[in-house]
Amino acid sequence: MGKGIRTKPKIAFILITACLAFVAAGSSNTQKKASNSQYGSSLFGEYASITKLGRYGTHLILEGELECDADIENINLMLVGPASVARYPLLSSSSGGKVSFWLSDKINNGIFLDAIGVSNYMAFIELECEEGLRHYNLANHAELQEIDYCSISNMNITKRVRLAGGNLKLEGEEDASYFIVKANMQALPEEVYDIVLDPGHGGPFSGAIGKLGTVQYKEKDLNLQVSILVAEKLREAGMKVALVRDVDRDVFPYGSGGRTVLCNELKAKYSFSIHFNSAASNQYQGTEIFIANNSDPGLAIAFADAIVQAVGYKYSNMVVNKIGEGVYNRRFNQADVEESAQTAAGRGYEPYPARVGDNYYFAVREPGGLTTGAWADGRDRVNGSNDFRGSSNTAEGLLLELGYVNNEENLKVIIGKKEEYAQGIVDGLRVYLENQHVNSRY
Ligand SMILES: [Zn+2]
Repeated sequence: MGKGIRTKPKIAFILITACLAFVAAGSSNTQKKASNSQYGSSLFGEYASITKLGRYGTHLILEGELECDADIENINLMLVGPASVARYPLLSSSSGGKVSFWLSDKINNGIFLDAIGVSNYMAFIELECEEGLRHYNLANHAELQEIDYCSISNMNITKRVRLAGGNLKLEGEEDASYFIVKANMQALPEEVYDIVLDPGHGGPFSGAIGKLGTVQYKEKDLNLQVSILVAEKLREAGMKVALVRDVDRDVFPYGSGGRTVLCNELKAKYSFSIHFNSAASNQYQGTEIFIANNSDPGLAIAFADAIVQAVGYKYSNMVVNKIGEGVYNRRFNQADVEESAQTAAGRGYEPYPARVGDNYYFAVREPGGLTTGAWADGRDRVNGSNDFRGSSNTAEGLLLELGYVNNEENLKVIIGKKEEYAQGIVDGLRVYLENQHVNSRY
């Protein structure tokens, strides 16, 4: 096989025929561990091992390893369907014959699940080395055994994408492990939502307070007003949206229905926490979007750009924690870690394992569970527990600080242009999702 010639692997033919029938019969739920040794040979050749499987927002996280002594020129995750083959380039490193591979260095930049074509697929690793192509079956050794994902819906129609491993029993042979991806259109299940909006603060907690003359503007009210507008607009666009509060009341950050928990209870793709800002100085103005460590800023950039455009105002002039125009990432610093320990001491619980560099805001840290370092395990009884903290199949959380209420010029814009702020958020999300579809490597 010459370099660059893409021939369908022999194993694919055998496995596909056997497994697609199997998949179609709906018996893909065999979850028994492979009896083969991790890389042991089998009827179908060599195995690659999936060591990490997850979802963050709309994107797949997949990592694994295999054994190969040859120099690797290219490595792809290959989805083989009855009518098409999709290849997703993988990143890799090798040492001592062991090759590690992964989809992306960013937690939200693996495969865009919404763009997977409707079909049934067998997944393989395709490795291009000097001597030609090699193909590896996949055995799932990750903690997460399957992903059942509903794409962003349109008028209650979704693309349901299921990923799972299984074993094929063949007479007189060892079990063969396989990994399948199934995508089909269907009605959105009742319990599944697309987006959760979290209007910050509420009830006795006003958040920031802006003043024009003698009139006070409470952040909690502005957050709610804009969030309700965003929800209406997203619903008009066909999405299914939930709000953690739609009245003036306090909401716990954790626990069932909590600000950072509801998104995962509703199997949503995104949690957007909507706030307005305030600072000790009144010189700050403009929009700041906070994202998680190690995440691709694409959605935050789209939000910041679209909000600035729709409102006709500014990216924030705050330089602390800034990583791009309107895009921010706040991490724990040493003082934050000490403060966290003091809070714990004051309330009488063992401090959370905060380390310098961890995601600071709970609206960003907790929705992502394991992926973003969530830690709320209920030791702080005031705030309760995030039951999804150990999950690697979670929503992506962003914190939107739309503008500064303690800056008079910015406050006037906020009061006069709530509709435009909401439109900016909706436009930003649309632009980002459209780009993901266009750029998806399918
Ligand atoms: Zn706030």
